[in-house]
Amino acid sequence: MKTEDLKEETAGNSETVKKAPANSSAPTNFIRAIIDKDLETNKYGGRVHTRFPPEPNGYLHIGHAKSICLNFGLAQEYGGLCNLRFDDTNPIKEEQEYIDAIIENVRWLGFDWQDRLYYASDYFQQLYEWAIQLIEAGKAYVDDLSADEIREHRGTLTRPGKESPYRNRSVEENLDLFRRMKAGEFPDGSRVLRAKIDMASPNLNMRDPVMYRILHAAHHRTGDDWCIYPMYDWAHGQSDSIEKITHSICTLEFEDHRPLYNWFIEQLGVYAPQQIEFARLNLTYTVMSKRKLLQLVQEGRVRGWDDPRMPTIAGLRRRGYTPEAIRDFAERIGVAKADSTVDISFLEHCLRDDLNKRAPRVMAVLRPLKVVLVNYPENQVEEMEAVNNPEDESMGTRKLPFSRVLYIERDDFREDAPKKYHRLAPGKEVRLKHGYYITCVDVVKDKDSGEIVELHCTYDPKTRGGWSDDGRIVKGTLHWVSAAHAMPTEVRLYDHLFTKPDPEEVEEGKTFLDNINPNSLEIIADCMVEPSLADAAPGSRCQFLRHGYFCVDPDSTRGKLVFNRTVSLKDSWAKIEKSEQ
Ligand code: ATP
Ligand code: MG
Repeated sequence: MKTEDLKEETAGNSETVKKAPANSSAPTNFIRAIIDKDLETNKYGGRVHTRFPPEPNGYLHIGHAKSICLNFGLAQEYGGLCNLRFDDTNPIKEEQEYIDAIIENVRWLGFDWQDRLYYASDYFQQLYEWAIQLIEAGKAYVDDLSADEIREHRGTLTRPGKESPYRNRSVEENLDLFRRMKAGEFPDGSRVLRAKIDMASPNLNMRDPVMYRILHAAHHRTGDDWCIYPMYDWAHGQSDSIEKITHSICTLEFEDHRPLYNWFIEQLGVYAPQQIEFARLNLTYTVMSKRKLLQLVQEGRVRGWDDPRMPTIAGLRRRGYTPEAIRDFAERIGVAKADSTVDISFLEHCLRDDLNKRAPRVMAVLRPLKVVLVNYPENQVEEMEAVNNPEDESMGTRKLPFSRVLYIERDDFREDAPKKYHRLAPGKEVRLKHGYYITCVDVVKDKDSGEIVELHCTYDPKTRGGWSDDGRIVKGTLHWVSAAHAMPTEVRLYDHLFTKPDPEEVEEGKTFLDNINPNSLEIIADCMVEPSLADAAPGSRCQFLRHGYFCVDPDSTRGKLVFNRTVSLKDSWAKIEKSEQ
């Protein structure tokens, strides 16, 4: 098949390049090396037990997906276990909606925690008792300084901290005050419990960190049981310990917290997990902080957490991403010890790799132009046989109705065509994919506006199926739909949500919001798709020939389907890779 215009159909599909970005260490990585060694030395009695610990204060994003794939993936690989644990220590920002979404997202990605769904709030009582234990050992004290004063006393990297005047309260006084904090006797912010470590430590996390604060707020699980809440740093390591986690994998910013976590565990004399840090995922043209994503949602900059332009798992899913593609991406980027940014075109590349193999190929006309085949019998309808995916014969064939009136893409016709234009033009012949050869004989225009409203063409009955046996060459192959059979649909095309590779790079006085791409969504209301899609369910995916991969959006109604373009066919990553070879 010599087709100029359909070249894109397989662009980037033909070669499946399994090369990961330069920062990758896949298939093996330093975390696997640590686990291998621990297994060798029998450090945890041969156990591998990880956990994924999201805070339910927003939806999960592609960065979390990396962590999910890593934690659940390692457990699977080593025949171990992985828990899902909500780090729900801040009732002000946390919501049931987020918990439900997170559970659904992790499942959708293909992972299973069996009966090991935990909440840090399950451990509030234990954490409280451990705090009492530290107070009794003289290792924690109630401080009456305000938050601002505590910050001031903390010092800086170059200046040691200053001890609080309340630091040397007696054990009895501390016990009494802490119990009364818990009993609700004091207002929010009036007192905290702090660990008594070292105000001169070069590590700021060790300068008497806050363990508990007073917060008269209802918790989504414990209700009004508590009015003191543990800080993340006090809850996290102990939660890992309670669950007998072997390898507590987290992102690099927690490296400086590790000495503190170890200190707590040592003071309490409880089981000690091992923390391992890796670099968080950053993607070009994307923001990944939950705070910023929340802002996009709250300010209505996107249509919600699952807007197909969002880097959230819910957004990617709605956009048409497959869990397989995301898992493949996570594996291929690998894990590293240094922060870096992955080109978003690499994520799209992994997606195309997957969709190319399994998305059936169909015809859809996004901007229809009517074509009347003047020599085709008025009421005839032929059923043309079309393969569903040339990459996979087992996906079979389907019947496509062909008739006298068709739609082609407005872009596929030019009245004044330049020499190298291989699509339709007055007097020119092209192939209709799975159809016939047609030749344009007349152009019908609107009398007033001069706009082209219809083309008249002849078809060659000897070219059924889009083939000719007389050796005649046509350069262009167009997609089409039969007007009487096509279904009107809405199509949503997406571009990056931000105009800059690094949306956080802003001039003074501006924010990442100023880098939002005003053209990230284009809605085309009156597209026409072939009738085989009539029963396509929300979430189902296909390739529109020459246009890219698409996915049925849940906004679809019985009468009108809505499609999201998941990704175009042009693989810019494959190009980058080629140029680097
Ligand atoms: P924030 O957006 O406020 O920084 P967070 O992303 O750390 O919050 P958590 O719910 O605490 O949100 O994250 C759960 C887990 O996912 C943590 O173990 C965290 O290390 C990991 N994680 C978060 N962001 C990324 C990322 N970009 N790349 C890899 N892992 C991540
Ligand atoms: Mg976090």
